[in-house]
Amino acid sequence: MQRLIEGVHKFRSDQFGNYRKLFRKLSQEGQNPHTLFITCSDSRVLAELITQSKPGDLFVVKNVGNIVPPAGVRGDTNSTAAAIEFAVENLGVSDIVICGHSQCGAISALLGQTRIGDSSPHLRDWLKVASPVLETLKKEYAHLTDPEAREHAAAEENVLFGLDNLHSYPCVQNRLADGTLRLHAWFFKIATAELYAFDPQSQQFIPLVRED
Ligand SMILES: [Zn+2]
Repeated sequence: MQRLIEGVHKFRSDQFGNYRKLFRKLSQEGQNPHTLFITCSDSRVLAELITQSKPGDLFVVKNVGNIVPPAGVRGDTNSTAAAIEFAVENLGVSDIVICGHSQCGAISALLGQTRIGDSSPHLRDWLKVASPVLETLKKEYAHLTDPEAREHAAAEENVLFGLDNLHSYPCVQNRLADGTLRLHAWFFKIATAELYAFDPQSQQFIPLVRED
């Protein structure tokens, strides 16, 4: 806790001056984020840092494994669905990014490589939402035997699963039909902090920016 308090102190004394006007403006005019950014709760994936976004830019959903449930799923998954509806209907974001990442604990658990204890029934139910990813892995990646390669493939497929599921939300369907919403599947590689984006033409994740 002490680290958090020191951080707050540092922010107020060193950084806040740079943001004073922006926060006042956002308070008076309300937020108008351009993007709904759905990513993992993992402490190493910081949406604002890796996209250099400012307060007011991103509406961020962080959940375990950046899972986007189909619209019909209820119960524990409601908060992600609610955030999607709020961002698309009320805030009118122009873009939705689902950003998966390497070394994801949720994906490892989904694959049975990390054990989920009996006292974590919510976590077990939540990961079940992404179980179709296991079917895809069985069908399309049976040749992969290396655990790390399987985990990577599952993490990428989980992002594409989420992208498919976004299409099941009526609010998303309406905005796509209007041509006012774009959907993106991204992948963050922790070791190098590189971002990849899914390219529908080549059906592959390719580097988001070219670094010369
Ligand atoms: Zn994760």
